Amino acid sequence: MKFQLTYPGLTALPKLSHDGVKWTPLRSNAWSLAGSNRVAQLEVGPQPLWVFAHEPVGLKPLGEWMDAKAKLPFAKEKTIGESIEKRPLRQLTFGETTNANFVFLIGRQHPPEITGTVGLMSIVDTIVGDSALAKKFRRQFQTVVIPLVNPDGVEHGHWRSTLGGIDPNRDWEKFTQPEPRATSEAIATLAKAPGARTFLFVDFHSTGEDVFYTQKDDELTFPKDFTTHWLGAIRTRFPDYKFKRDAGHNVNQPTSKHWAWTTLGCPGITYEFGYGTDRALIRKISSGAAEEMMKLLLAEPSR
Ligand SMILES: [Zn+2]
Repeated sequence: MKFQLTYPGLTALPKLSHDGVKWTPLRSNAWSLAGSNRVAQLEVGPQPLWVFAHEPVGLKPLGEWMDAKAKLPFAKEKTIGESIEKRPLRQLTFGETTNANFVFLIGRQHPPEITGTVGLMSIVDTIVGDSALAKKFRRQFQTVVIPLVNPDGVEHGHWRSTLGGIDPNRDWEKFTQPEPRATSEAIATLAKAPGARTFLFVDFHSTGEDVFYTQKDDELTFPKDFTTHWLGAIRTRFPDYKFKRDAGHNVNQPTSKHWAWTTLGCPGITYEFGYGTDRALIRKISSGAAEEMMKLLLAEPSR
């Protein structure tokens, strides 16, 4: 049976799968343009056919990954709220200290941005790993991770919005949506407790290239100049890794990074991985980036 799929926007060529594991791009002769729409012809047989903009990391595998991390002896889990469709918003905290030195990592405000999720998972895997560096880091810092801010959007295959039809990463001022509201409240509650200090906030996304959206160098953060040092360390460690830093992106938009910087005073960073960046490369870079972050924060004199 033939299906015709018409969809607006030209950014992504659909990927197809019969098993949800192996994905192949739609053949170039199987689609055409009609104005600003892409029209794809799909042949559907007795086998299930999965059609996604990007191979998904859906609720099940991400949930299983969170389940495994939550079982680590130094992990704590908390449900910080729920989505519009009553899915739990899960927060995992990793640390072997009562020090209120925090690093916050969040992800998947935008459902199809799965390379961001691949990066987040790899950074967390490194922070919770067995290396001497990771163990030392966990004795000094608590890493608080909210890997899935928009579970309804992931389940329903939304491009950028919550079930309320709002882009959650443009809602970090009015907080009309329960998901960014609960996420920000959970983070602010920890970060504003007496004695607490926040050293870093990173929100993981995907776009056309690998890029860090950051503050400008003259915009003061605590720790001072951390972003410049961290990105410099990543560049030194991976001289062939092509990425950009953009300190002027969406500066007046109510994004999470802007909220983090203005509310917590720490570097507020959006880390975007390219949609097409090789997944194994993302894991390698993310793991190295996590190590460089841990080294820098452990050397931080104000720690
Ligand atoms: Zn995004």
